[in-house]
Amino acid sequence: MEKIAIITGASRGIGREIAKTLAREKIKVIANYYNSEKQAIELQKELKQENIEIDIIKADVSKREDVKKLVKFAIEKYGKIDILVNNAGISEYKLFSDETDEDWNRVINTNLYSAFAMCQEVIPNMIYNKSGCIINISSIWGLVGASLEVIYSVSKAGMDGLTKALAKELGPSNIRVNSIAPGAIDTDMNKDMTQEEWKELKEEIPMERIGLPEDIAKCVKWLIEDSYTTGQVISINGGWVIT
Ligand code: NAD
Repeated sequence: MEKIAIITGASRGIGREIAKTLAREKIKVIANYYNSEKQAIELQKELKQENIEIDIIKADVSKREDVKKLVKFAIEKYGKIDILVNNAGISEYKLFSDETDEDWNRVINTNLYSAFAMCQEVIPNMIYNKSGCIINISSIWGLVGASLEVIYSVSKAGMDGLTKALAKELGPSNIRVNSIAPGAIDTDMNKDMTQEEWKELKEEIPMERIGLPEDIAKCVKWLIEDSYTTGQVISINGGWVIT
């Protein structure tokens, strides 16, 4: 039977590219979206033209009840979940002293709690099947910290902690857990950057270009095909950050 994958935040950017890449590999994709319904429908139509069917499911993954609904849909329709990609995320750019409890809750719940809740809901099925692949999309800022993005950095470092600890707990159940920590990727998340800022950024990157969603999707595909890599944080950043 074909593999079943849930990808959170899949209507645009990195998540959308992951959804397309996996769907073209004959993996059955359940693409989660929250606000961007129009883009999710466009994605579904685009793949339909290639004779590929995907499911698009609206859910706010920062809320347990929505996470439960999303996972319930997958189990009821397909009976199993083989792959979970925790991709949904938001950024926040603020001086630390201006951050509020609301900012903390919004960013942590969207980026980190969502991964915690998604993992808790899918893992029983993966343990039952003695098979699973979980990929958390974190960030280089979780590795090295970003000025003016403290909460975001905390959330992404938390994801990497989740990855490492869960990998140890779930290895005996044949479930692999890894993080992909992207550098600067050309998506809507960076739409406020000016041309000048992009140019300066490119000059700091040894590979002399900004990353593309495809660079991340290729690594997701590889991690799914692999059978021995677990507990790792793979940073795809053109050499911008080397730890
Ligand atoms: P993006 O803003 O285009 O995509 C983020 C997606 O998450 C959107 O589809 C959005 O609707 C979804 N989302 C946000 N809150 C949600 C919620 N509560 N429930 C469900 N979905 C929700 O940005 P992107 O660049 O494609 O980001 C994807 C992931 O990659 C994020 O986790 C981000 O932190 C990470 N990342 C991006 C970059 C970059 O430079 N673009 C770098 C490092 C890490």
